[in-house]
Amino acid sequence: MISSMQSSPRSLVILTGAGISAESGINTFRGADGLWENHPVEEVATPEGFERNPQLVYEFYNQRRRELLSDKVKPNAAHTALAKFEHQFDGSFLLVTQNIDNLHERAGSQNLVHMHGEILKMRCRNSHLVFDIREDLVFDTQCRCCRSPGNLRPHIVWFGEIPLHMNKINQALENCDIFVSIGTSGNVYPASGFYQTAKISRAHTVELNLEQTGSSFDEHIYGPASELVPFYFESLLESVEQVE
Ligand code: NAD
Repeated sequence: MISSMQSSPRSLVILTGAGISAESGINTFRGADGLWENHPVEEVATPEGFERNPQLVYEFYNQRRRELLSDKVKPNAAHTALAKFEHQFDGSFLLVTQNIDNLHERAGSQNLVHMHGEILKMRCRNSHLVFDIREDLVFDTQCRCCRSPGNLRPHIVWFGEIPLHMNKINQALENCDIFVSIGTSGNVYPASGFYQTAKISRAHTVELNLEQTGSSFDEHIYGPASELVPFYFESLLESVEQVE
């Protein structure tokens, strides 16, 4: 499976999307209908949607938060395999997730960035300070820094906003030997362009997905993440050990 890689990798960047959490019980984003949990994205994932109907947006993310904190949702074998690989791999490793859930950290991943924010955090619209949250947020919830009601918003990067940690991500992409994209449709910019940045840096690029996405990676492997990810990363670790 990893035969086309030339030599032992020293630096990896992994990008994950909603597909890696699908087998943990969290629905992906874009079905054929372009809806997120039955809502048009313009309603629940844009600053304009929030201005129009903040209560609806609060309720949408309250539901996502409750779902994530329920007993039903747990990291699956793909999250666990990435954490295990990171612990055993000797080189540099950055896990970039578009997901707003916390399943990577629950599985034990460490060098991890959430480029689209986190559902278990909220942010003050005045000070931009970020706070942990586990309970429901309603429109008149008092902000923890300015004490004003109505100043809090989910710490989520909505369409039209700039993703987080881009300097760190671009630096890692420019220096990686292998870039692996897992469970992402490639519909959301700028994550959709990461494999091209990695290719320009002469990295070997790999896509692990349930189905074809239309992006031209060097290698495409299709199947459920809970099977592909453990298999791919165990093989990669073995190949690194054999070379050393
Ligand atoms: P997407 O929903 O657009 O695409 C999901 C991709 O995962 C598809 O290509 C699909 O073929 C693949 N997939 C589905 N099930 C899979 C499985 N079992 N194994 C492997 N691949 C599988 O997701 P995206 O590209 O991440 O973009 C969606 C945006 O929505 C992200 O920005 C994210 O912030 C947000 N979102 C997050 C979550 C979450 O945190 N879990 C869930 C839904 C949406």
